[in-house]
Amino acid sequence: MSLELRDVTVTLGRGESRTTALRGLDADFAPRALTALVGPSGSGKSTLLAVAGALLRPDSGRVLLSGRDIARLTAAEQARLRRERVGYVFQSGNLLSGLTACEQLLAAASVTGRSPRAVRSRAEELLTEVGLGHRLRHRADQLSGGERQRIAIARALLLEPELLLVDEPTAAVDRDRAAGIVDLLAATTRRHGCVTVVATHDPVVVEAADHVVDMARTQPAAHPRD
Ligand code: ADP
Repeated sequence: MSLELRDVTVTLGRGESRTTALRGLDADFAPRALTALVGPSGSGKSTLLAVAGALLRPDSGRVLLSGRDIARLTAAEQARLRRERVGYVFQSGNLLSGLTACEQLLAAASVTGRSPRAVRSRAEELLTEVGLGHRLRHRADQLSGGERQRIAIARALLLEPELLLVDEPTAAVDRDRAAGIVDLLAATTRRHGCVTVVATHDPVVVEAADHVVDMARTQPAAHPRD
């Protein structure tokens, strides 16, 4: 698995709020490596993650996953790709509020056809690795924002995606916890050989990353009219 973006342009919004979120962006993300995606707020990091994960079609350009342009797949093919090969961790965590931490992982596994019984011990192990071993039976709505996001990380890792996209995983946690999360992402990346892209402002993540992609260097300078 490799990920390359070629001359990717994305515009978002309509009318007065219309914004060029990505402008002719070129970027490469290496296999078996954790890449930190850096750049100021509003520079298009979240948009890049959405395009890379086939959640958003670019206006133009190519999004090459192992050489295949996923921007040109049908909606059904994109849905399958997202289900089978891509793991996302959004800032919000995107959890199901009525389920416990452990159930969040088991539910995700069952959607992809894995038996909850077969994955339970691995789910508990991953939750322990992200520091939630004492919260396995808490419901998502009884947990903090940082804890919910750590559940989302464990959930993504359980499914062993080929492409792992993570938005600001350490924004809501302290420095020690941040180091633990990055170590886990880096170790998983090496073990499974996935492409991992982490949008971040956090120097702890940048230091631990194998590569850094800076949004400011991936796009031609903005035209004054934009
Ligand atoms: P980052 O993740 O680096 O903070 P984003 O990808 O969220 O950046 O946003 C890139 C640009 O697109 C920003 O200028 C943002 O204001 C704009 N943007 C994001 N979502 C929308 C939207 N739905 N409509 C219009 N503009 C948007």
